[in-house]
Amino acid sequence: MTGRTADVAIIGGGVHGCSIAWHLASEGVKTVLFERDYLSSGASGRSAAGIRRQFGTTVNCRLSIYNMEKFPVLQDELGYGADLEYDPSGYLWIAYSETQLRQLKKNVQLQNSLGIDSRILTPEEIREVAPHLDTEGMLGASWNEKDGHINPHTLTFAYGDAARRKGAEILTETEVTGLKMVNGKIRGVKTSRGEWEVGAVVCAAGPWSVDVARWVGLDVPITPERHQLLVTEPVERMKHPMTLCLDDGSYWKQCPNGTFLLGWGNPEEKKDTSYESSWQFLEEVSKRVLAKMPILQGVRVVRQWTGPYDITPDQQAIVGGTPVEGFYIDCGWSGHGLQFAPSVGRIMSEIVTGKHPFIDVSMFRYSRFEEGDLFFEPACI
Ligand SMILES: Cc1cc2nc3c(=O)[nH]c(=O)nc-3n(C[C@H](O)[C@H](O)[C@H](O)COP(=O)(O)OP(=O)(O)OC[C@H]3O[C@@H](n4cnc5c(N)ncnc54)[C@H](O)[C@@H]3O)c2cc1C
Repeated sequence: MTGRTADVAIIGGGVHGCSIAWHLASEGVKTVLFERDYLSSGASGRSAAGIRRQFGTTVNCRLSIYNMEKFPVLQDELGYGADLEYDPSGYLWIAYSETQLRQLKKNVQLQNSLGIDSRILTPEEIREVAPHLDTEGMLGASWNEKDGHINPHTLTFAYGDAARRKGAEILTETEVTGLKMVNGKIRGVKTSRGEWEVGAVVCAAGPWSVDVARWVGLDVPITPERHQLLVTEPVERMKHPMTLCLDDGSYWKQCPNGTFLLGWGNPEEKKDTSYESSWQFLEEVSKRVLAKMPILQGVRVVRQWTGPYDITPDQQAIVGGTPVEGFYIDCGWSGHGLQFAPSVGRIMSEIVTGKHPFIDVSMFRYSRFEEGDLFFEPACI
């Protein structure tokens, strides 16, 4: 050992790692975070950055209520200079099939029972909230006008910066290459810049958590999946919310700077963490979105990119302790994790410091896969 010590080491400088670092450092815990590239270089900075309360399982709805209360005040709370671009311009899940509409109604019923004011819209009502949408063939939609957008980069940097000011060490371009165990307990972290003696490790390494967990003999059931997005040139701000179509996997929104972000979850997408983009994506996403938003015809595409989803068998996260003493995980967010950074950063800090989590997340436990106790999140794309 080189004499460098911390109570807790966090692996991964995405939005989750940075939020956990801020929460721990705010509690006076000596914290170090290792990111092998730059903060937000993984899924966080590649995300569509939609934020919402419209989920289909109780725990995600409860967590999302907290997240959505935090976003409007987070920039002040974290004392960050740049704009987090919080933009509550609404979130619309459209349905072309009875099956999807039935699921949306079930989701809304659950949301309403938990105090979330989402509602089901008829095609006529859809045109009121999204006048540029061609509603032909649409049966209905679920809608919440307070859901919306946040900037994924500034959100991550804001947490990282605030964590530093609270005394956390945030080490970028520092890869964790192994973990040190003594008598079955976590004792140290090996990195590309030397070793650290630590009391606990939080793995927030997205799909790469599989490799990290293997070092301590754990098998984390995550399948990486490539997901692509494109961004257009900016156009005049129009009345249009984030729109998702579960029937064909497409989604799109206008960002506060006027650009449109278009995504499509291709079921045939590569199951890996490569950052390659494809011509096929450009064609397929344009076809799907233009059919519903003809006003975007002729708007030029500026660039496209790829990011990894970390998919679990029930598309729910894995959060909490593990059978290895001192080894905690927060990963497996299956494509909807950016928005959970406020609540889950706090919860991970509570779990690691031996407190009772302010929202029960025991259903996210690592052991549920072995126990066969899966619970599926229906509201994800
Ligand atoms: C195309 C796309 C669209 C999305 N849209 C949304 C959306 O609209 N809303 C939403 O909420 N979520 C969305 N998501 C999901 C969201 O981006 C992720 O769930 C979230 O960002 C996960 O954050 P994280 O901090 O857990 O992981 P990441 O941001 O992936 O961070 C993990 C970090 O760990 C680092 N790392 C890995 N191994 C090591 C190591 N050995 N040593 C050091 N560092 C290491 C990586 O470099 C990486 O930076 C989307 C994702 C994609 C790809």
